Amino acid sequence: MSRKPIIAGNWKMNNNKAEARELIDGIMYGVSQLDGDKMPEVVVAPTYTALWQVYDIIKNEPKISLAAQNVNPNPSGAYTGEISLSMLSDFKVKYVIIGHSERRQMFNESDEFINQKAIAILNSGMIPIICCGETLEQREQGVTDVHLEGQITKALKGISAADVEKSVIAYEPIWAIGTGKSCDAAEANRTIGQIRKVVAKLYSQATADKIRILYGGSVKPSTIVEQMAQSEIDGGLIGGASLKADSFIELIKGAM
Ligand code: PEP
Repeated sequence: MSRKPIIAGNWKMNNNKAEARELIDGIMYGVSQLDGDKMPEVVVAPTYTALWQVYDIIKNEPKISLAAQNVNPNPSGAYTGEISLSMLSDFKVKYVIIGHSERRQMFNESDEFINQKAIAILNSGMIPIICCGETLEQREQGVTDVHLEGQITKALKGISAADVEKSVIAYEPIWAIGTGKSCDAAEANRTIGQIRKVVAKLYSQATADKIRILYGGSVKPSTIVEQMAQSEIDGGLIGGASLKADSFIELIKGAM
């Protein structure tokens, strides 16, 4: 199965203008030293306020794509504090992260809202990175697979097979995010295999074989090689270890 791997850095609410510049300059330099044919797709997701600057720096570097950390699915209007897809398209944003557990938990985002975002993103020609993941309690109760099936089924509601094939899912166990405690690679592989089976059940095996499913949750340079060696894991969505150019470049190398 040839699915192009993705290494995506989610900068979250980090990096002012100068910090964003330093980070993207470091990533640009590191990437320039690597063989583009062997590289995974490299994606960076800065804050909205750094999008313009990062876009301007990477715009002639085809090895790096831009992602937004969120979007509002409405085209425009009275949504104070929100950002539309048309605004993101000004910066040639390719991917939009949706359904991150921090947004689900801290901002009460529902599965239905995440589904609206996925549909709007795909209609605009961008690609959603749809996050899903279980809490520690759900894992201990043995309901991980059922919970993920529910999240994925609801997120993909009404989306065509052709659009699902382009989309990206990120499996991010909540107990592994920002904790330094990555999910065991074999278990992450098993769980992602289950998510792929859900896609096969909803669509077809051919669609399930095409969608890229990333692992996220305390991915580090010391874990990436084992994670990327798993047959179901198509890359990583990375928070903490994406905030330093050196470690992000190590992650990219680990996926080559
Ligand atoms: C994330 O927030 O998507 C994430 C995986 O964070 P970290 O790598 O810091 O666990």
